Amino acid sequence: MLPKPPAREPGLGFLYIPPYRIVGTSIAGEATSLMVPELDVCFDLGVCPRPMLPAKFACISHGHMDHIGGLAYYCSQRYFQGMGPGNIICPKAIAPAIRKMMDGYIDLERQKTPYNLIELEPEETHEIKNNTFVRGFALEHTVPTYGYSVYERRSKLKDEFVGLPQEKLTELKGQGTEITRWIEIPLVAYVFDTIPTPALVREDVRKAPVILAETTFFEPDDRARAKVGMHLHVADLVEWLRFTECQAMVIGHVSRRTNLAVAKSNLVKALGRDKAAKVHFLMDGKANKERFERQLMDAGEHPLQVKGGGKFGAGPFRSKPREGGPGMSGGMGGGMGGAAGGAGGRFSGPARDPDPRP
Ligand SMILES: [Zn+2]
Ligand SMILES: [Zn+2]
Repeated sequence: MLPKPPAREPGLGFLYIPPYRIVGTSIAGEATSLMVPELDVCFDLGVCPRPMLPAKFACISHGHMDHIGGLAYYCSQRYFQGMGPGNIICPKAIAPAIRKMMDGYIDLERQKTPYNLIELEPEETHEIKNNTFVRGFALEHTVPTYGYSVYERRSKLKDEFVGLPQEKLTELKGQGTEITRWIEIPLVAYVFDTIPTPALVREDVRKAPVILAETTFFEPDDRARAKVGMHLHVADLVEWLRFTECQAMVIGHVSRRTNLAVAKSNLVKALGRDKAAKVHFLMDGKANKERFERQLMDAGEHPLQVKGGGKFGAGPFRSKPREGGPGMSGGMGGGMGGAAGGAGGRFSGPARDPDPRP
């Protein structure tokens, strides 16, 4: 009898929440890496799938291996492919350890991989695109951990000058009067690995249209485990959603043994259908594929016409969703393959094809 082939791994999760694509993988304890290509940023790099290499910035939440395992690879591979140094944004408290890790790889690879380490104090910000900033803020986990909020800074006419004719405004400006003020428009918040904390309802999280969030445990009996591991439980999520104004919350870091079908129906019961419809599971390949197909049809594009990525697959959703894997009933194993194929598909892959390293 022939041996069994290896178990099939789920591909990358993908959701299109206009104007953002949310791409990545996230399973509690194994690996979390999310990317928002439109913002040139990824959040955590537990692993570094090829489509994530082009992200100019990597915001690291904390030092657990499932969030950082692919970070050195990201920097080295970007260098190898001529994509420029990786820019690592991290809590100040873990920056020395990241530097030590990178030094270790310099010895191992005999290559001085360039990277920029941007260490943030809590509440400090860094510009990632023109007028778009990321801010780190403290969460409560077993090790020093940040959440991140991405916001756009816009200048707005001060209230007292609204309605004045343009010539008057120009004149005031000419006299040195400050006629505008800066406002912050929250875009995306990333909140992974924390217990419930006041940070969940800070303005730049509460008002973010898209929240990427962990929820590790869904069984009623798991509340104690959530406390010990310092993670969110679905009961916390339900409570949190009462305060958020998001148009979508994307859930990751779900434990592998979670039955997504049951988790989703419980969410509908707890939140009602409307509110529950805002909650998406990153790794729910089947539901996300159907959702994207609906989006394509609404946009007048036929799902079958979507050209997919390169040599790895025929479309963004190459592999058929599995009917649950070992210990993962209800769809966590749903494959969304072709995303990994990247180049030429809906996910822009890295600029160059990798050559085999000598
Ligand atoms: Zn984790
Ligand atoms: Zn952790």
